Amino acid sequence: MNKNIPKIIIGNLKMNGSLAFFDSYLSALKDGLNNENKVNVGLCLPYPYLSQAQSILSGSKIGWGSQNIAKFENGPHTGEVSAKMLNDFGVQYVIVGHSERSTAYCESDENIAEKFNNVKKHNMTPVLCVGENLIEREAGIMEQVVAAQIEIIIKSFGTKIFENSIVAYEPIWAIGTDMAASPEQTNHMCSFIRKIINQDGLNEINNLKIVYGGSLNSKNAVQLFGLNSVDGGLIGRASLNINEFIKICELAQSFET
Ligand code: PEP
Repeated sequence: MNKNIPKIIIGNLKMNGSLAFFDSYLSALKDGLNNENKVNVGLCLPYPYLSQAQSILSGSKIGWGSQNIAKFENGPHTGEVSAKMLNDFGVQYVIVGHSERSTAYCESDENIAEKFNNVKKHNMTPVLCVGENLIEREAGIMEQVVAAQIEIIIKSFGTKIFENSIVAYEPIWAIGTDMAASPEQTNHMCSFIRKIINQDGLNEINNLKIVYGGSLNSKNAVQLFGLNSVDGGLIGRASLNINEFIKICELAQSFET
């Protein structure tokens, strides 16, 4: 059922940019997306540029966020950034469990669950990344893999924790590869994710958004945003080019969820 809710587009800038880059990027984004735009947009930047995002984007409809968070409140955790620190910079979105982190830094599903809970506790919106790798897809076990990633959160904190949250279906084989999932694969997995969080419709979760991420760009966006099961996109590489990112946001405006 279409509820007339605008799509949401989150940019993941990863470890890119500089003061000069973000100065022009953020201003261009603010100018390029006027306040009448019927799409929600968030931008997840490296930590050092959150203050810059806060000063340039405040007062606009564009939200900003981080790509990680500590699971701890404070204390002897060298190199970590706490939820309260993110609150200080007006952060709205926090990416949790991105595969580039879980693979390179061996982040466990338990850790990811605690981070997800920490984001919610401090009134920010988690963008939880889930998805299977190529071996798992070829073995046909993508549902089991994704279900396990979500169920660990449900087991620890209950399904209601998914209210006001975003889950990004990001098949690892599609990230940065120019090989986006097909509309059929995306529809299947996004519907599956909604079904397990809603427990087959028994437990309707308010304001849960399921988005797709993985080589999404202005060429494949329409096909993917046209799916009822897809509430928007998480955009990596294509968000680095401001004109491309604005184009994707504009394409998303023609669709509702
Ligand atoms: C990502 O890493 O979150 C992502 C979606 O990357 P890309 O768009 O580059 O595949």
